[in-house]
Amino acid sequence: MTHVDFAIVGGGIIGCTIARELVLAAPNASVLVLDQDAVGSGASRRSAGLHFPRGATERVRRMAGYSQAYYRALLDADPALPIRPVPMLVVSDRASVDVVETAYLDEAGLSRVDALPEWLAPLSDETAAWTGEGCQYADVGALTRALARSLRPRTSFREGVRVDSLDRVGSGYELGLGTGERVTADAVVLAPGPWLAAPAWRERLTPLGVRVKKVVALHIERPPAAEDGVVVFHDEDAFLLPLHEQGRWLLSYTSRIWDVDPDRLTGGVCPSDLAEAREVLVRRAPRLADSARSGRVFCDAYSADREPLVRALDEEGRLVFAGSANGSGYRLAPAIAVEAAHLLRTAVENVSDQGSHR
Ligand SMILES: Cc1cc2nc3c(=O)[nH]c(=O)nc-3n(C[C@H](O)[C@H](O)[C@H](O)COP(=O)(O)OP(=O)(O)OC[C@H]3O[C@@H](n4cnc5c(N)ncnc54)[C@H](O)[C@@H]3O)c2cc1C
Repeated sequence: MTHVDFAIVGGGIIGCTIARELVLAAPNASVLVLDQDAVGSGASRRSAGLHFPRGATERVRRMAGYSQAYYRALLDADPALPIRPVPMLVVSDRASVDVVETAYLDEAGLSRVDALPEWLAPLSDETAAWTGEGCQYADVGALTRALARSLRPRTSFREGVRVDSLDRVGSGYELGLGTGERVTADAVVLAPGPWLAAPAWRERLTPLGVRVKKVVALHIERPPAAEDGVVVFHDEDAFLLPLHEQGRWLLSYTSRIWDVDPDRLTGGVCPSDLAEAREVLVRRAPRLADSARSGRVFCDAYSADREPLVRALDEEGRLVFAGSANGSGYRLAPAIAVEAAHLLRTAVENVSDQGSHR
């Protein structure tokens, strides 16, 4: 039987940033990250990985600002990380101007423009556009693996090991693993991405009201120019991202398909995905309307109020759920991690007072 101070279930971008936060907060703590697959292979691997400096609510704007500074500091410390700053252009309907100007952070420095690149639908009396700063995009799977690498060997990782059960035992929890091993932990973080219905935690998570929605990002096989940046279509909740290192564009848009199972999303892009994407392109970038033909399909967890959920599931703050970031789990992960570590502060303080169990 293994015992650790903290067990984190889920080695995606959220689980790994939480591991980093706990190691920083409690350097003596023993931390174990468990993943049924490889680190950085769930939603994180399929992510478009765009950070933009905005939030629909005050809390999300605060989280976006925090995460933006966090990623900037990571990149400054290690310029080889797969994070690329990119210029930003925001396009909206004229009726949404106030919403746009409230949603973007001050440091985005939104500045109105009166013309768009010729390959986009031209501005009219009904539309508005801004340039801004603060965007970056990442290869989220690779970044997650880089974070994991920086945490080893102080943090242990068990990959290809599913967590099958989770039981309260004494003041902590016992995890039953697919390998037959049992692990006890003083505190547990559940960061399972869209795998909310796993038998080990389904009943505990059902009251949170989280649902899983399909997320689609299509590839447009045309090379972006060196100066091209991301174009955010505010009203469609969509964006065109130049993947400079891959020599193509990515179109991310909002799918309307709910309650999908992450283990069954194996069919790839379907005709309705292409039709939904086409709707966005016809309106905003008509020259590209028929260019989106392939891409990546997966899903993400969405909360009822569209803010990330970081919640203690017991009274002592020894079992914490973190995730449900509504298609923004990359850009908000650092702020989610801070909130999770804060909820675990009693367990963190105990480790700091007593030293590690190992
Ligand atoms: C196509 C697409 C585009 C996206 N674009 C963006 C974007 O541009 N910007 C942005 O911010 N976000 C974007 N997102 C959302 C973002 O990728 C996710 O919110 C984020 O990756 C979630 O991270 P996570 O760590 O919670 O989940 P995951 O990365 O899914 O990690 C959860 C991990 O838990 C593991 N796990 C689950 N169950 C068990 C179990 N029983 N035992 C052990 N391990 C288990 C899984 O194997 C998985 O590795 C996009 C998502 C998709 C799918």
